[in-house]
Amino acid sequence: MVVNDQIDTNDRLVNTDIIEQKDNFDLSFRPKNLKEFIGQPQVQTNLSTFITAASSRNEAMDHVLLFGPPGLGKTTLAQIISFELGVGFRSTSGPIINKAGDLAALLTNLQPRDVLFIDEIHRLSPTIEEILYPAMEDFQLDLMIGEGPSARSIKIDLPPFTLVGATTRSGLLTTPLRDRFGIQIRMEFYNASDLINILLKLAEKLKLHLEKDGAYEIAKRSRGTPRVAGRLLRRVRDILSVSENKVIDANFADKALSQLDVDKSGLDAVDRKYLNVIVEKYQGGPVGLDTLSAVLSEQKDMIEEVIEPYLLQRGLIQRSSRGRFVSAAGWRHLGLIPPNHAQEQSDMMNNQK
Ligand code: ADP
Repeated sequence: MVVNDQIDTNDRLVNTDIIEQKDNFDLSFRPKNLKEFIGQPQVQTNLSTFITAASSRNEAMDHVLLFGPPGLGKTTLAQIISFELGVGFRSTSGPIINKAGDLAALLTNLQPRDVLFIDEIHRLSPTIEEILYPAMEDFQLDLMIGEGPSARSIKIDLPPFTLVGATTRSGLLTTPLRDRFGIQIRMEFYNASDLINILLKLAEKLKLHLEKDGAYEIAKRSRGTPRVAGRLLRRVRDILSVSENKVIDANFADKALSQLDVDKSGLDAVDRKYLNVIVEKYQGGPVGLDTLSAVLSEQKDMIEEVIEPYLLQRGLIQRSSRGRFVSAAGWRHLGLIPPNHAQEQSDMMNNQK
């Protein structure tokens, strides 16, 4: 097993991060309204109720916090909320807002009932958060003008607006900020049948002949994530365009995806490297995040937000207070027989659930 090869995670086909926008795919294929949005039925029902209620009262909808792993449709839903409310949409991201003035400019330019979307809201600086509290609660800005003895505070009234915050790490949000969101929505991974429908819709737009069994092959390897499904479909399309075939069926999709080094469960070389490192160097774990980050040359955020959620969801790894370890299923996934301690650890964790 090779564990020391360098793999650039930005090149990952199954990367759930936003780099796909380079492919010019994202904006044109976002569902525009709730009816076009596939999956997450609970989320759809709840949002539809809140949107109808706010519209009928002619009020700004309560602030919404969307949380869950990348690529599940948080940005898409934020845009849908503004579309369904029939109001304007402004978008920014936590790390971009550096100064109080940046936030003030955004807020004072909103029209009544507009949606302001802040992606990665857990990365707002504490000073910006402080300004956001009264803005969210009372639609007021408290700003300090000037410095030293001549400094004075001014209050500016804001139009009522809806803040939609998105985060992959709800645990990193401060309690006062989280508490100010009246509506909190957890996005779940998508099941295969929803992903198949998403893929068929995409194929239609890309003018591709995708058979349902071909869509199933791609869906299975999409890590429960529409963004990954879209990316895999486009790569399969590339392979199709240089082949004799005209149709993406199960057989073609399977071959194409194997060629792309995405295995039957949607794991790619980076995931396998992660599992291999723990198995080979740490006898299956437990091993701490800092150590893993150093050994894999990956940022801790990347490991926690992108690599681990899917491995956890598939039950291939488990996390305990002592660190991460590869579960019995994880050993089997690598084609290895799980040692007794892995089986015992997995049983113990499962019993604690
Ligand atoms: P996030 O903000 O959670 O990272 P995005 O909203 O940017 O995710 O969605 C990623 C991609 O997946 C977009 O191209 C979007 O069109 C697509 N997508 C997400 N959810 C759905 C869905 N329910 N139906 C169809 N496409 C979706």
